[in-house]
Amino acid sequence: VAAQVDVLVVGNGGAGFAAAQQLARHGVRPLLAGPGPVVDRPTLTKTTLTTGRPGLLADAGKIAELGIAVHDGLVRSVDLAGRRALLDDGTAVEAGAVVLACGLDYEQPRLPGDCTRMFTVASPAGAVAAHRLLSAGPRRVVVVGAGLLGVESAATAAAAGHEVVLLDPLPRPLDRLHDPLPAVAAAELERAGVAFRPGFAVALVEDGPAGCKVTSADGAMVTGDVVLRATGGRARSGLAGLPPLPIAVGPGLAVPGLPGVHAAGDCAVPAHPRFGRLSHPHWDSATGAGRAAADAIAGVPDAGAERLPYWWSDIGKLRVQEVGAGSLAVEWAQHDGLWVGRDAAGTVTAVLVIGAPRRLREARGLVTASWSGRS
Ligand SMILES: Cc1cc2nc3c(=O)[nH]c(=O)nc-3n(C[C@H](O)[C@H](O)[C@H](O)COP(=O)(O)OP(=O)(O)OC[C@H]3O[C@@H](n4cnc5c(N)ncnc54)[C@H](O)[C@@H]3O)c2cc1C
Repeated sequence: VAAQVDVLVVGNGGAGFAAAQQLARHGVRPLLAGPGPVVDRPTLTKTTLTTGRPGLLADAGKIAELGIAVHDGLVRSVDLAGRRALLDDGTAVEAGAVVLACGLDYEQPRLPGDCTRMFTVASPAGAVAAHRLLSAGPRRVVVVGAGLLGVESAATAAAAGHEVVLLDPLPRPLDRLHDPLPAVAAAELERAGVAFRPGFAVALVEDGPAGCKVTSADGAMVTGDVVLRATGGRARSGLAGLPPLPIAVGPGLAVPGLPGVHAAGDCAVPAHPRFGRLSHPHWDSATGAGRAAADAIAGVPDAGAERLPYWWSDIGKLRVQEVGAGSLAVEWAQHDGLWVGRDAAGTVTAVLVIGAPRRLREARGLVTASWSGRS
């Protein structure tokens, strides 16, 4: 079977759907390929664990109304130079342009021992399956990994009345992020009643009579009724024919050396006009990149090229937001309730807003003003 499409979008998450939607706005009918509905990932660790329903970026009716064709399944392989792809139903696709938007892979190698009640919260199926066990009443929940996804999951589960232990080999939650985020997370988790166990490198997870038994490399042990794995995503895809991920893309999210091929979202690293090449695997960057790739394909100038990087996280009821490039700041200081990050030259590179969503615009203004040399 062979099919010809104007644009093939590989991956139906934040970047892929944004690209398809923007192409449809430009009058181009894309083929959006990816398994299942178009899930809005941030809902998984915030609401899906308690409602059992992943939030969707659009339902099937809306997608059809937009004029987006869908392949509900995986792309098996791509020949990017020829802009050809093989779908998992055997269809060979020839495309005028390709947008790679396959995201990160959150499925980790299974831990030795295995446990039938361990779920990957970052996968829609994992969060839904975890909800099935959590909905039956208060449970002992063990969350593995205290990055953003683990911290959010632990706070969500605790707020729903579960007894939660959060494990990480590092000394503080969010320890890989800059100050004051680890202290903010620690305080919020304590308030929520989450027990944080630092120095816990999980070596074995196995089913036992008292529930799931989680053992550390040095022999410490915790048990729980449900284990939520939140050990992060990796740029890795089962899709044959891809260049190494993440892909360093040029203007218009174009993949160098492959005309008509673009990459957007977590699988790509674009160059920002101010901050340079910046890995920023967050929702706003992914959707902005998807739209920018679509604009480039449609020959429309990219309206969002200077868009400030932005991410947010909800630790229970506490909203944390950051604009700019936090990774480029070497020092952080509180200034009138906002945390301002500066580089070695003293220029504001990012502003962190904690529990004050209405001040986001002001935070953006601080980063933009320093960019235009006004502060
Ligand atoms: C649980 C969770 C919570 C998050 N919360 C926040 C938040 O609060 N704030 C924030 O700023 N960011 C958040 N993020 C990050 C944000 O959601 C991501 O940066 C964004 O979803 C990336 O979009 P993407 O399209 O690159 O990847 P994804 O949204 O992950 O989508 C990739 C898609 O590609 C599909 N795919 C993969 N391989 C193939 C293939 N071979 N063929 C077809 N399809 C394929 C996958 O099934 C998936 O649907 C969160 C992420 C997760 C996982």
